Amino acid sequence: MNKPVDKLLRNDWDEFTDKLGKLQTCNHTLDGSKAILEQLGYRNTEVGEICRWFELNGGYCDCEVILNVVMREHLRGLEQGKG
Ligand SMILES: [Zn+2]
Repeated sequence: MNKPVDKLLRNDWDEFTDKLGKLQTCNHTLDGSKAILEQLGYRNTEVGEICRWFELNGGYCDCEVILNVVMREHLRGLEQGKG
């Protein structure tokens, strides 16, 4: 699987969530998340695909990505015994 979401979760999730957690502001967009993904080397089309996945998982802005997406992935990791 080479989907950008899989790549993010597999390779860059810790770094992404670390950077996202350090954002102190949310302007009700996914701009912070997009900027971090670009820093991590994701192309525009990949960033767009990842943001659609965030929205499908209840992350419509940067703080909701932390609350809904990050926590859900964290819990899933715990359930699978990874966390
Ligand atoms: Zn927000």
